[in-house]
Amino acid sequence: MGYDTERFVGYVNEGLLCCICRDVLEDPLQAPCEHAFCASCIHGWLVHHNSCPEDRQPLDLPILRPLYRYMKNDLNRLQLHCKNREYGCEMVCSLESIDRHECECDYSRIPCSNSDCPVQVERRNLNSHLAVCEYRSRECAHGCGYAILNADDAQHNCVAELRTELELLRSEMIYRMEEAKHEMESRLDSQRRHMVQKESILQKEIEELKSQMSTVMSDMHTLMASERQHRQELEQAELEKQELLELVKCLQKDYRFIRDGSKKAAIIPPLTRLELKQNQGRPWL
Ligand SMILES: [Zn+2]
Ligand SMILES: [Zn+2]
Ligand SMILES: [Zn+2]
Ligand SMILES: [Zn+2]
Ligand SMILES: [Zn+2]
Repeated sequence: MGYDTERFVGYVNEGLLCCICRDVLEDPLQAPCEHAFCASCIHGWLVHHNSCPEDRQPLDLPILRPLYRYMKNDLNRLQLHCKNREYGCEMVCSLESIDRHECECDYSRIPCSNSDCPVQVERRNLNSHLAVCEYRSRECAHGCGYAILNADDAQHNCVAELRTELELLRSEMIYRMEEAKHEMESRLDSQRRHMVQKESILQKEIEELKSQMSTVMSDMHTLMASERQHRQELEQAELEKQELLELVKCLQKDYRFIRDGSKKAAIIPPLTRLELKQNQGRPWL
């Protein structure tokens, strides 16, 4: 729907009127036949028709275009009265800026800013309404700290109000504590699992080290035993060497004795001597 021609100051060119509502164009669109319409008017028309309402030429939504620029300029420059003229607003301004004015117009009716209040007032009267609005709230005079609606004044009971609040706080605190407890428990659980895992790994490592150590120990025992045997064999070889040296000395003595021709010397056969020495030198046998 367009702007009522009555609101305009001075002459309005026929071409700036909507072909459907006959008011001044609002959000204008133009057909290829150059007829112009308010957007809402032509949209409504094309629901049941497919031609221009003025000359019956074929018409469809997609072929509608914005108004020619010069016409748009003429339209924007038209001067008109505020829609709240009947309530007292004396504003006259260009069509281009009328929406901006009407959004801020003191005579526009707006809803009370208290939620739930059904009252609508002119913007200029809002403050005086708020002072008496049944839905205005103020802080309780008895000091409980509550903002109470004017309408609920008689029913307000500080103790009951505070008790309800306390219950709410208490249940919220319990809820939070439960939550914290659960989180703590789950954290502890996961740590415990982690520790158990670690412990079993360590246990395995200990077992492995133990088995390695026992292998090393048994190797060492074997080595020590063979070392002991070697030493014993060495000692025995040393003893045998000493005996053999002594034997050699005796044999040399015997030889000299025989060579000197002494017939009185008792001749002990060398083999017997050797056997005797062997038996003496091996007390462990
Ligand atoms: Zn129209
Ligand atoms: Zn037409
Ligand atoms: Zn106004
Ligand atoms: Zn109100
Ligand atoms: Zn109170």
